[in-house]
Amino acid sequence: MNESIKAKKLNEVKYLFEPKLFTFETKVVSFKKDEIKKGTQFYRIELEDTIFHAKGGGQPNDIGKITSLEESDPNLQAEFIVQEVIADLQQNSIYHLGTLKNEQLIFKENQKVNLQIDKDRRELNSRLHSAGHLLSSIVTEGLKLPIVGFKGNHYPKQCFVEFEGVIENLQTQRDQIISKIQNAIDEAIANKLVLHRQIVSKDKLPEVCYSVPQTVFFDPVQVVSIGDFKGNICGGTHVEHIGEIGKLVIKKINQKKSVTRISYDIVD
Ligand SMILES: [Zn+2]
Repeated sequence: MNESIKAKKLNEVKYLFEPKLFTFETKVVSFKKDEIKKGTQFYRIELEDTIFHAKGGGQPNDIGKITSLEESDPNLQAEFIVQEVIADLQQNSIYHLGTLKNEQLIFKENQKVNLQIDKDRRELNSRLHSAGHLLSSIVTEGLKLPIVGFKGNHYPKQCFVEFEGVIENLQTQRDQIISKIQNAIDEAIANKLVLHRQIVSKDKLPEVCYSVPQTVFFDPVQVVSIGDFKGNICGGTHVEHIGEIGKLVIKKINQKKSVTRISYDIVD
């Protein structure tokens, strides 16, 4: 009888350690029917480990496919089209939602599978997400503006970082402030500063992070930092050095009550 296998915990999954792995072999922990959406049967699959980034922290989930490996005849291989990847905080694991290419070919527990993620989408998401970290570090630590990043959205065409605090003279000097941030970002990207990823225990966070949120769900947790700047807790995927981001453009700065939002995009 097969030994039963368990899914890796959220802070142990493969993509945190190897964000440039686009294909990977692992095993099925469980496979079940899920909802019917718009007439299509969805399934839910949990794996021992995964390279699919789960939606969260302002980064969209990866998409791609999962293929069974034990059949020598490719016509008998089950294929799962991954559409959503969910981090289940209560179970401390990740599950994948999607559809089957052929409803007759299903997955079994313990079965070996190959994972393949959409590389272009992942690389774009990693660049957009890393750009958010860079913007946050430049504004708060590099330029010492009196605002501290606390939230980001890194979805294509909707990217922004929100900072706690306001810039006093924004209304009168908006253009100068935007170009000051833009110049500092251009310089950092030209210098290809290294993006560091570390797995840090909770008690060490104040040493390596600029600000530590009140609630930290995991221990240890990934901390992302750029060059000599301090880090942020982050579950996302990233570039290795910020030269990979390409051209980061500051689009606008808005302030509402005590929050400043800086919107950005990357252009090729
Ligand atoms: Zn992040």
